Amino acid sequence: MRQLRLILGDQLNLNHSWFNAIESDVVYIMMEVKSEASRSPQHAQKILGTFAAMRFFSKTLTDQGHHVEYVDINASANHHSFCGNLEHFCYKLAIKEFIWQEPDSWYVDQELNGFLDRSELSGGSVPSEHFYEERGALAFFMEQKKSWKMENWYRHLRLKHDVLMSESKPVGGAWNFDKENRKNWRGEPTPRSLRRPKHDHTKLWGEIVESGITTFGNPTSEAFQWPLSREESLVMLKDFCSANIRFFGDYQDAMSVKHQTLFHSLLSFSLNLKMISPQEVINTVVQELVEDRENIASIEGFVRQVLGWREYIRGIYWAKMPDYLKSNHFLFGRELPSWFWTGDVGMNCLSTTIKQSLNTAYAHHIQRLMIVGNFSLLAGLNPHDVHHWYLGIYIDALEWVEAPNTIGMSQYADGGVLATKPYVSSSAYINRMSDYCKGCQYSRKEKHNAKSCPFDTLYWDFLSSQRRFFDKNPRMAMMLKNLDRKSDEEKSLIANHAKVLREGIEEL
Ligand SMILES: Cc1cc2nc3c(=O)[nH]c(=O)nc-3n(C[C@H](O)[C@H](O)[C@H](O)COP(=O)(O)OP(=O)(O)OC[C@H]3O[C@@H](n4cnc5c(N)ncnc54)[C@H](O)[C@@H]3O)c2cc1C
Ligand code: SF4
Repeated sequence: MRQLRLILGDQLNLNHSWFNAIESDVVYIMMEVKSEASRSPQHAQKILGTFAAMRFFSKTLTDQGHHVEYVDINASANHHSFCGNLEHFCYKLAIKEFIWQEPDSWYVDQELNGFLDRSELSGGSVPSEHFYEERGALAFFMEQKKSWKMENWYRHLRLKHDVLMSESKPVGGAWNFDKENRKNWRGEPTPRSLRRPKHDHTKLWGEIVESGITTFGNPTSEAFQWPLSREESLVMLKDFCSANIRFFGDYQDAMSVKHQTLFHSLLSFSLNLKMISPQEVINTVVQELVEDRENIASIEGFVRQVLGWREYIRGIYWAKMPDYLKSNHFLFGRELPSWFWTGDVGMNCLSTTIKQSLNTAYAHHIQRLMIVGNFSLLAGLNPHDVHHWYLGIYIDALEWVEAPNTIGMSQYADGGVLATKPYVSSSAYINRMSDYCKGCQYSRKEKHNAKSCPFDTLYWDFLSSQRRFFDKNPRMAMMLKNLDRKSDEEKSLIANHAKVLREGIEEL
């Protein structure tokens, strides 16, 4: 019986058990479809990187002797949707059984199940083997718990998978070294530039342009530096471990105009396309502790991101979809200003982060959370538009990981499912963690006027206007206490200037 196996563009896992044997009655199918590439406006490097990695993966499988049908973006038989192409190939290849690895996206899951139900084929999905946990595991774990705290889940996974544990106790005597992970970076130590692969994408870019897919951002081969294969991803992982992991914890939250990536790993694209697995990333990083016991804060900090946050975010997505995408707790509806697509804004922190994102399809976590996300929430931007912006611009953006991070963690639009309080700050935090304010046309010393830092006015106005809601949250008590210290005169100045800022958002 002939079997068709679908490999999605984010399932490039050569170690999946599917590929343990060459089976003569099995045909693999991979496809570049416009329905996927056009869900949100996409960064050119995201389309380039995904298609190039898919093509490389397909060639590797073919070289190993597997039968792969690859539908490229301009193929005449391309129906530009999963179902259209599946129907075509099932008929053409006389397929009797269709199977696929569990997708990470809710809508693809729906689409594939719907296709099988409508067809006369046998089949179904198989485990994806891409994560530590099954996608429903978080919801099961949290069933009896009052709140869905990441920390509880993280400790559970540390114990269950025996990561950084010694006789059921956390290595280093604590579960969490977060307090040690808050240093500002002043130019030293120097981050090692990771060996980022170079690729010539001229031909592929020509095909993408010809296909009519709309993109934005820098498409040049010079700007593109992402790994496209398992080998290239492993080189980056090794490089990160030998050069930058020891400073990852200390400078995790730091930002600088002098260095865009600092000590971050840049592994999210490789992880999210499954070119490497979270288990091998964590095992390689933990091995560094054997070499250097002093390194525990950095290593634990990194493990918490991959084992804790990444698995947690995925669990939230599967527990809360599809309604999660509609969340809008504060009922915010302001359109994104046009400078989100150019970076041409006078606020140096935003201009630097957005221009960097347009150029490289990357910004690190604190840039995403405390610069663009912080501003979007304080300015009252529509969380759905913000979600689509993030989904399009970052090389690692796939809905299962991007949506909870944006809608939940960054915009608090889920009303506190994911975060215990909104991630908002005034310029004080940005100035402490970066050198952005020094080169900015706005001043932190001025108060609520045309020259003053917009973050400050918007921050106090946000707290004041949402006060009724925040009063119930003990984690907001300190912020509200500081608000209460302000005179009535200043509060009214804040409210008036915040209105001017929101209305003049295009001109900031
Ligand atoms: C608003 C917003 C949107 C985001 N969108 C995405 C997204 O679309 N795709 C994505 O992979 N990450 C997203 N993140 C999480 C995080 O910012 C990126 O994973 C990280 O910046 C990727 O860079 P890196 O590989 O250098 O990470 P490092 O700082 O080196 O961290 C190591 C790894 O930990 C994992 N990780 C860290 N934080 C998170 C997190 N909050 N959620 C899930 N995994 C995490 C990633 O796999 C990352 O590669 C978002 C965060 C925010 C605040
Ligand atoms: S002064 Fe304000 S707008 Fe300028 S960089 Fe600092 S925080 Fe950003």
